[in-house]
This record gives sequence, C-alpha cells and structure tokens, in this order.
Amino acid sequence: MKNTLFTLSLCLLAILTSSAQHEITLQSGVRLPKDTATARLLRRDLAFLLEDLQREKPIGNQVNPAQRAATQLLLDELKELPKSSKAGEPTYTPYISNIINLGNQYLIQLLYQGAGTDKPVTRAAVTLLADKAGDHFVFSSPLQRRTASWQIHEEGTFRFHHRDPLNKKHLKEFIKRANGYDQKLKVKGTTTFYCAEDMPELLYLIGLDYDADYNGRSQSVFGATTDGNKVVVLGNHNTHFDAYDTHDLWHDRLSMVIDRSLVNRPVDEGIAYAYGGSWGLTWAEIYAEFMTQVAGKSDVDWTRVKEQPVYFKTKGFNNSADNIVAALWVNEIEKKYGFDAVWKLLTCGPVEPGHANFFKTLESITGVRKEDYNTKVWELVRNGAK
Ligand SMILES: [Zn+2]
Repeated sequence: MKNTLFTLSLCLLAILTSSAQHEITLQSGVRLPKDTATARLLRRDLAFLLEDLQREKPIGNQVNPAQRAATQLLLDELKELPKSSKAGEPTYTPYISNIINLGNQYLIQLLYQGAGTDKPVTRAAVTLLADKAGDHFVFSSPLQRRTASWQIHEEGTFRFHHRDPLNKKHLKEFIKRANGYDQKLKVKGTTTFYCAEDMPELLYLIGLDYDADYNGRSQSVFGATTDGNKVVVLGNHNTHFDAYDTHDLWHDRLSMVIDRSLVNRPVDEGIAYAYGGSWGLTWAEIYAEFMTQVAGKSDVDWTRVKEQPVYFKTKGFNNSADNIVAALWVNEIEKKYGFDAVWKLLTCGPVEPGHANFFKTLESITGVRKEDYNTKVWELVRNGAK
C-alpha cells in the first residue's frame, strides 16, 4: 500500500512537473544535441523564457545578464509574436527549427507558426543564442555576434557600432545636444547605437530574421532601455550617423529616466517642440506657422483647444496647437522657476478627463487658475516664442 502510494505520488509529481516545465515543440528534421539532457534543458529553459515574457513583469532569469540591454530589443518583439494581429486570425506557436552547437554556445532558430486557417501561416523566424550558466541556459540576441567585425567609437556615455566612417562633425553636434538634455534629466546610463543600413538589416541584427508584421517596411529605428542603459539600432539609412531628429531626441533621452506612458503627453511634446522644433523646422519656424495658421484668429479658446484638438500643417505634417501652447508654458516656467518646475508639470500624470492634474499642477507652480488659463495663454502668445 505504502509502495503504491509512493508510486502514485511519483506519477503525479511527473505529471505536474511536465505540465509546468513543458518544452518547445520541434519541427520535424531538427538535429538535437547528442547529449539528451542538454537538449531537454535547452527546450525547457527556452519555454521558460517565452512564458516569462507573457508576464506583466517578467522575471528575466533566462536572459543572459551580460547581454540584457542588447537583448531587450528582441524580447520586446518576442513578447508580441504569439498574439494574433487581427481578430479572426490564428494565434502563433513557436517551433524549434534549428539548433547548432557553436562550441561554446548554442544557436537556436524558432519559427512562429499559425494554424486554424486553410494554409499554414509563418508569423516570424527568430534566432537566439543560448549560453550555459550553472545548471540552466540563458538566452541572448545575436546582435553582438552579428556586428562582431564592426568598429566601435566611444565618447562619454555614448558608444557607436559602425561599419562606415562616422560623420564626426555631426556626431559632435548630436552629443552636445544630447548632453544638454541629459544634464536636465540627470541621465546617468549609457547609450549604444548600432548604425545599420535599413529595416531588413535592423531586424536581422537583433535576431528577427522574418516578421510578417514588418512586411514591406524599408526603414525604422528600434530602441530599448534596460536598467537605465539604452540600445538603439538605426535602420534609417544612417550608417554614417549623419541624421537625427532634434525633437525626437528629447523623447528618447526622457525615456531613459521615465516610462513615457506615465508623463503628461502635451507637456512632453511641448518640451520637444521648445527645445528641438519638429519635422526638421526650428521652434521659431514652427511658432511662426502656429501664429499664421491658428493664433492669428482672435476667437481661439485655449482651454477648449485642450479638449477639442486643433491642428495646423508644416511640410504636410500635423501639429497640435495644444502642444505649441504647452511649449510656451515650458519656456515661461523654465525661465521663471527652472527645469525642476518643468519636470513637476511633465510628471503631473497622463492626460485625464478635464485635465484636472495638469491644471492643478500648473496652478501650484505659476498661481494661474483654470478660469484664467485662456487669458494667460493669450498673454504668452502675444509675448512670442521666447
Ligand atoms: Zn514628439
């Protein structure tokens, strides 16, 4: 009886263990490592990695700590791969399609396949590297391996991985401006750029060999911040690092110190406009357009503009008038009370109904009440873009 119970509980344990620690399914024809224990461990730890990514706050035990920042870009993508992009489309399951023993590590390729329609659908193809760490495997993006022959240029907290010669003059301007933003934001972390050619190369470098969601896309820039350190892969024909957007640079630097979904969006945009203009135009040029196209009409109610957005176009792109007004506040507040007060307004919280958090914080900084907001904005508008 005792023995039977013992056997039963062993069986139960085996069932529980196998359901909790399932392995990634193999595509037919995969050559597994000869050591079956290693093969099982690889498949199990990879399953842990992919399951962990679906948690609200992943634990990250299966991520190679030495490659955490470089791997985050791929993890952000992997998290999305099982999901269907449109209603009625299948969800996708990862299959191991290839395992290669590279000597000191393993290279693993995955295919995300969808079922449930007449034709099998490939959602994505992914390459990961697996390193043994004690009694388990940790995984990383092949970014470093795929750029191993590139040159590295370091300057302060910035590091540039590049194949083509860098535009040194432009680099200097970029670093000066970024350092200016960083000083205000107290950015301490490092920023690493990989200057790739285009979107296909960007995806290949991070380990996303194919992704149906990016079909037909020729350029993009991917970035991720981990533990305060940022990794950016430029896939926008920028192999010499001779183009960057002064407006977006503000958003990028901000993302190193706070999750941008937590800040007040119009204030974030206002700062980006005030410091960096937009769409290749300076703040003064944008402001002149705002005056001609919006503020030139005397019946504008700026409190209502916060509720019912008004747009004006520069170079064919839309600008929200409320963001320009926010830029005026940013300039005014920084001049009178310093950047700490701008930060207070920026971090008053995401936009909420009636903008209660914004108006409350604005009043605590400037003394301007919601009732007087429209009059005060008209004063700022008349004083101009300073
Ligand atoms: Zn912006």
